[in-house]
Amino acid sequence: MVHKIVLLPGDGIGPEVTKAMQTCVSATGLDIKWETFPVGEHAIKEFGTPLPEHVVGAIKKAKVAIKGPISTPIGTGFRSINVLLRQSLDLFACVRPAKYYEGTKSIAKNVDILIFRENTEDLYAGIEFEKGSKDAKKVIKTINGLQKRQIRPDSGISIKPISVFGTKRLVKHALDHAVRTKRKKATIVHKANIMKFTDGLFLKIAREVAEEYKRKIEVEDCIVDNLCMQLVQRPEYYDVLILPNLYGDIVSDLCAGLVGGLGIAPGANIGAKAALFEPVHGSAPKYAGLNKVNPTATILSAVLMLRYINEIKAADRLEEAVKKVIKEGKYVTYDLKKKGDKGEPVGTQQMAEAICRKL
Ligand code: NAD
Repeated sequence: MVHKIVLLPGDGIGPEVTKAMQTCVSATGLDIKWETFPVGEHAIKEFGTPLPEHVVGAIKKAKVAIKGPISTPIGTGFRSINVLLRQSLDLFACVRPAKYYEGTKSIAKNVDILIFRENTEDLYAGIEFEKGSKDAKKVIKTINGLQKRQIRPDSGISIKPISVFGTKRLVKHALDHAVRTKRKKATIVHKANIMKFTDGLFLKIAREVAEEYKRKIEVEDCIVDNLCMQLVQRPEYYDVLILPNLYGDIVSDLCAGLVGGLGIAPGANIGAKAALFEPVHGSAPKYAGLNKVNPTATILSAVLMLRYINEIKAADRLEEAVKKVIKEGKYVTYDLKKKGDKGEPVGTQQMAEAICRKL
């Protein structure tokens, strides 16, 4: 069967890590028809916009895409293309595994956490009012008129919407996935003691949804600050985490740090009609073009993608091959080399080729 997949190489180190990923996916023997589009800085040069409409159209049509990181140009007026992609494709669930692989510089072993982060709401909704602007003044006046606590006139405002709809579909998706993949426990993460009408709503709806799953999986909840401490002290206690957007962003980087860093952290953005896979890391511009950075995060993102398109055997083989190369520690990039390791680190493409040899 031929799989049509949209590929967005992205900026900085994006083209290198996605090329390494393509090398590995091709080596599994799957028949993939890649449709490649420039986005980010490359697209600005060609189309005057970092995310041309035809790219979104192509992803909608193919339903599956994988991307390298895209730089967010500072001071040009362009919003984050990543946020824009997630919003325009309604990719409501951001899924990030944090898994221990033997041979990494992980500070914790026995970690296998699967994070589900809401991807469309919360402080990431992009509803903001600049300090001193006409609209900010209007918003402050309205809010000050509605309740006692007064917002200072020199404030900037970001809005934090959390809805029943958004929470329900995320929690359902997460628990369905957790049950299907035989996970044991899910933890709902929030700060409901302080933000009663947003995080409080998230928790209430999540608990209601969890009721429907009570015979299938254990569901508990935890306040986000406590969770951060617990994750550092006993990460093996956690299995599936379900979080609103901002906490999900922060906690997933914490978990990536626990198991060896951004170089090995994959991600997926899942919607009802399309899915977009990407490494958690950014475009690391200072390493661009050096064939130096770790391609593992993008290759493991492809593993998630292959599972999504039901190519389970190829996905398992590819993940096993990655595991072997990291465990061996011989053909790995600089970030995976530990003190006392013999041999020089290899380049991005050489690590990908070593993975192919283990397939
Ligand atoms: P970054 O992840 O690009 O880099 C931070 C550091 O992490 C690097 O200097 C490097 O030391 C390390 N690192 C990152 N990827 C690595 C890899 N594959 N192998 C080894 N080491 C790696 O974060 P940043 O510097 O904050 O962001 C740079 C640009 O990327 C910004 O424009 C930002 O907006 C963008 N960004 C994009 C995405 C995305 O496309 N999803 C995510 C995060 C940041």
